[in-house]
Amino acid sequence: MSDNLFGDLPSAAGPAGAQAPVVLARKWRPRQFAAVVGQDHVVKALQHALTSKRLHHAYLFTGARGVGKTTLARIFAKALNCETGVVAEPCGQCSSCQEIDAGRFVDYIEIDAASNRGVGEIQQLLEQARFAPTGGRFKVYVIDEVHMLSGHAFNAMLKTLEEPPVDVKFVLATTDPQKIPVTVLSRCLQFNLKNLRREPLVAHLAYVLNQESVASEPRALEALARAAQGSVRDGLSLTDQAIAYGGGSVSFEAVSSMLGLVGREALVELADAIAKGDAAAAMALGEQLLGNGALASAVLDDLARLYHEVIVQSVIGRQPEDGATDESVRRLCESISPEQAQLYYQICTLGRRDLGLAPDESTGFEMVLLRLLAFKPELVWSKGPARAAALRAPSPQRSLAGMTSPVPPKATTPSGVAATGVTPSARPNHPVSSSASSASSASSVSAVPLSSLSAETWPALMKKLPLSGLSRQFAQQSSFEGLDPVKSNCLLVRAPIEALNEPSLIARVTDALTAQLGQAVSLRVTVGQPEGPTAAAKDAAKAQALQKRAEESIANSPLVQAIIKEFDATIVPGSIRWIGPEPEDLEEPKT
Ligand SMILES: [Zn+2]
Repeated sequence: MSDNLFGDLPSAAGPAGAQAPVVLARKWRPRQFAAVVGQDHVVKALQHALTSKRLHHAYLFTGARGVGKTTLARIFAKALNCETGVVAEPCGQCSSCQEIDAGRFVDYIEIDAASNRGVGEIQQLLEQARFAPTGGRFKVYVIDEVHMLSGHAFNAMLKTLEEPPVDVKFVLATTDPQKIPVTVLSRCLQFNLKNLRREPLVAHLAYVLNQESVASEPRALEALARAAQGSVRDGLSLTDQAIAYGGGSVSFEAVSSMLGLVGREALVELADAIAKGDAAAAMALGEQLLGNGALASAVLDDLARLYHEVIVQSVIGRQPEDGATDESVRRLCESISPEQAQLYYQICTLGRRDLGLAPDESTGFEMVLLRLLAFKPELVWSKGPARAAALRAPSPQRSLAGMTSPVPPKATTPSGVAATGVTPSARPNHPVSSSASSASSASSVSAVPLSSLSAETWPALMKKLPLSGLSRQFAQQSSFEGLDPVKSNCLLVRAPIEALNEPSLIARVTDALTAQLGQAVSLRVTVGQPEGPTAAAKDAAKAQALQKRAEESIANSPLVQAIIKEFDATIVPGSIRWIGPEPEDLEEPKT
């Protein structure tokens, strides 16, 4: 974040002549446990320790900046030293409480390791720890950003942590616990402070502004809370700026101009143009947004958020927990598939990351727009009707990372199958081929000579029969052995298992065959492993050939290679399926 050339937020407090900021963050910094927002789990544990007098000698508070680590440390120090006793809630009135609040309490030592990171400073500090507290019950050392300490400084501290004086308490605070030596970590009781969710933060800002009698718009507070990214302190500082910027009130217009936010309508319009592949419109809209003072980083963030909403809406069918999904998102869902939105999202976040590397902000931004326009996932996933079917029936299993293709909804058997002579295809995922249906309708007119039957033609004949259930299994698994040399019009057929040699089942197959061949036939079935080809074996071979073709086309696609390179993507093994119409040049499978 810090290396972002363009910065996240404007530092200017607003137009000249605006009223002086009230410094809400300092004024509303909690002085009591009860006033701490969003860290109930930590507050409860600390209060329990205080009331039960089971106090550890070192605490580690971890969490993002501005969530209240040092604020909690200070309240904890007051609770330890309050003149009313070690209490669950400091009184705030006694001289100890007031002196700690004012930063004048001699036994409360707060240092910032970011600026005092050497072993010298720490040793000096720890020297003093050996002396008993002067005015209070406990000496409380608060070391903020403790991960910044040097290795020697940590070693010096470790000695004190190993044999802590009884009346000394350490509260270490850090945004980066990974950088703290495990020897130190293991001697601390650790509490993880959470990032504040947007809702409670909005509620808190609303409460504070209400107390301050400052008018505000809910949308403005939403935007401020979003920009604060879970930090109460940042939220209040931004609100301060917004009050100054808006001349005493917090309006959405002022906040979006201050934060360089993008109007929702303009954003949806841009996403729409990208989805349609309308490069001219998209570029013009992008230029217009930046021209109106929006930051490229803010536009890309908001665009990524919009795609997130689209994905959540189309995959789960609900709006994101903290987003206000409106009609425009539902409309976008119809033109953008979840995979596409995934890809767009990634392009936005990566583009946002790389903005700092671009020659200038608008060039970087335009390149991201062009990339959004260049990647058309349809080319990878499928073509034609299957794509349309997939769009109509969103399936949660689809994912970009796996390059998984959507399975089109099963083709339903046309009604009146027997009457029209149209038979369902063996693979319900694919439309019935027109040649098959025309052949079968012709066959109902003139009888097929039985002499033309052979083991080779049997599977194709079986697949034309409008059968279901076990009789369909018979059609799939049986092989043809020849005509009965004695009994006329009797076909000798082999079925693999006894269950398929059941009289009513054979009768159904016989009826279907009679209708298909245009003359009365009978079947004589023997049970045994089929020797000739079966429809099932042909299907399996064909599926294998299709799978091979699908994997080859994915592996050879320059676009897929580009995505793999660009996003460091991998293809999940076994996730590739052929969808859409099968290729005409697929070689006839051998069985
Ligand atoms: Zn007190």
